Amino acid sequence: MKIGFIGLGNMGAPMAANLAAAGHLVTGFDVQAPCPEGVTSAPSAAQAASDAEVVITMLPNGDILRKVADELIPAMSSGAVLLDCSTVDVESARAVATQAQEAGCLAADAPVSGGIGGAAAGTLTFMAGGTNMAFAKVAPLFDVMGQKAVHCGPSGNGQAAKICNNMILGVTMIGTCEAFALADKLGLDRQKMFDVVSTSSGYSWTMNAYCPAPGVGPQSPADNDYTPGFAADLMLKDLRLSQQAATAVDADTPMGEAATALYEIFVENEDGAGKDFSAMLPRFVSRRRS
Ligand code: NAD
Repeated sequence: MKIGFIGLGNMGAPMAANLAAAGHLVTGFDVQAPCPEGVTSAPSAAQAASDAEVVITMLPNGDILRKVADELIPAMSSGAVLLDCSTVDVESARAVATQAQEAGCLAADAPVSGGIGGAAAGTLTFMAGGTNMAFAKVAPLFDVMGQKAVHCGPSGNGQAAKICNNMILGVTMIGTCEAFALADKLGLDRQKMFDVVSTSSGYSWTMNAYCPAPGVGPQSPADNDYTPGFAADLMLKDLRLSQQAATAVDADTPMGEAATALYEIFVENEDGAGKDFSAMLPRFVSRRRS
């Protein structure tokens, strides 16, 4: 397939490289980052998009996606698919999809889970929104870049799934970290805490697979001085998107709101920026009840 790939950062570069390695003809564009091996460099987003059967975007946020979409949609061939894999607000995802469809193109939003490691290994999970026809056209590319793709419904539903999943993740990580900090102060050994909770009703992915306590449970960023993994800054971004979406549809999400406020303080006023999102544990340990 002829593919245009816009946004060759931490995630986009390995995804584009995997597509090229699988034999697709990939033309890339990024305002800063170089093209990875196997990807031909284009001088603009529009030129990377012209001729492509699928144009993939992997960009930082919804405002940049809208700006890039304005440039590249007029250059796309009729019937080509605009596949946005960035994590953006639901509104931007739906606006860009409508714009693409009005220009005679197909559109799908397909944010990913799995991080930089999953992007490099080709084991991402895609949660996709868009028509059946758009999903069917890009499904073979999901098979190259990932291990699972779920079609979640019409445009924007991929972003909705991503935002809801990550709101649960942020809330659960905070719950796990504050419970470990409480256990410490109660004199409960962290390994014993893990042994009980990981096989009891408090178990979760954050406890069982990504334990925030160093030396406990399977290998996780806690064992590497909280080097991300999944950075607290990115968790804050996704939590803010969840609250933006909740406001837009008048949904009551008090735990999501509390998690957003905590990660905001952690990233902006404490030393959380650049650390893994599980570094909430040392934060709680160092604090007293206010
Ligand atoms: P990144 O900042 O490393 O990459 C974004 C790239 O977009 C950069 O190289 C930047 O130069 C480029 N860019 C910005 N404006 C541009 C423009 N106008 N035209 C062309 N290129 C432009 O970010 P990332 O970590 O690769 O994340 C990309 C997306 O994936 C984000 O939406 C993020 O939330 C999401 N995501 C990231 C992770 C992760 O672990 N990093 C995990 C899941 C989802």
